[in-house]
Amino acid sequence: MTVAEKLRKTKKTLFSFELLPPLKGDHIQAIYDTIDPLLEFEPAYINVTYHREEVVYKELKNGLIEKRTIRKRPGTVGISAAIMYKYKIDVVPHIICAGFDKEETENALIDLHFLEIDNILALRGDPDKSTGKFMPEPNGHSYAIDLLKQIMNMNKGIYLDEDLKNNTPTHFSVGVAGYPEKHPEAPNLETDIMFLKKKIDEGAEYVVTQMFFDNNHYFNFVDKCRAAGITVPIVPGIKPISIKSHLTQLPKTFSIDLPQDLVKEVMKCETNQEVKKVGIEWAINQCRELIKKGVPSIHFYTMGRSDNIAEIAKNVY
Ligand code: FAD
Repeated sequence: MTVAEKLRKTKKTLFSFELLPPLKGDHIQAIYDTIDPLLEFEPAYINVTYHREEVVYKELKNGLIEKRTIRKRPGTVGISAAIMYKYKIDVVPHIICAGFDKEETENALIDLHFLEIDNILALRGDPDKSTGKFMPEPNGHSYAIDLLKQIMNMNKGIYLDEDLKNNTPTHFSVGVAGYPEKHPEAPNLETDIMFLKKKIDEGAEYVVTQMFFDNNHYFNFVDKCRAAGITVPIVPGIKPISIKSHLTQLPKTFSIDLPQDLVKEVMKCETNQEVKKVGIEWAINQCRELIKKGVPSIHFYTMGRSDNIAEIAKNVY
């Protein structure tokens, strides 16, 4: 069963989470150490993020500055396969437009197809950190919808090379991202939802949302999506706050608002241990309300740590 089918058919709220590949040079054990404490909650699927190359500047011994392009967190496809074979749990690798031309995308999709990984989250990818702008690769995709079209073509056996004969169709089931507080570049939520609807019309089967800390943003977003004709499952994304600097980092990175009650509680904390407790309590309350409303799954952003996610899951599942 695909992730989309699970989301459509489930009678109870499923548990799922997202992992980041370890930093280059780290061991894959770091991934297993994040997954193991969460196994008892029977994850329905595990997402693995994709990270574009970044430009870094390194000072050399002679005082000159060298510009280097590096991928700090490689390994999305390999990690996804390793998780699937080790734990027999469905995996959802993220595939992004950023840093890929269409040929490279096709080859990555062929790798996934051969590995029998049929679930994908299709995304545009973050802007380039050095410029703050998203620039497609020459012969690459500008928007997630263009990537989606390529994937849907491959599902029909249409590859880039028109001269290929007897092409094997792939069987990808694709999810896409949605933003309850709107994508930072969108002029308003309505326009953002209009583009989201186009992704669904193109064949995306479900939506996973950006993190939010006030459930009203999610409920409002779902209402607006339904009014716009989007009928697919919309999975809420939850991230517990765990350090004081999240108060400024999360809004800056993800263009989201933090409710004043949460901010007040975090500001009272003297240690990050206390912040973590506040974050867990807040997320438990969010999850309880979401489950009561019958959401198909709650998708947790682990950002490399699972102890707080386990604590939340223990209280809500
Ligand atoms: P798109 O759907 O392409 O939308 C981007 C912007 O363009 C939006 O403002 C939209 O309204 C607008 N738009 C869409 N289509 C059109 C069009 N045809 N014409 C004009 N405007 C249009 N980033 C990573 O790099 N790696 C990851 O693994 C990753 N995982 C993520 C997982 C989730 C659940 C979420 C919510 C985000 C994730 N991101 C990830 C971040 C994401 O890549 C960025 O938010 C990116 O800026 C937008 O991606 P998108 O797929 O939503 O883009």
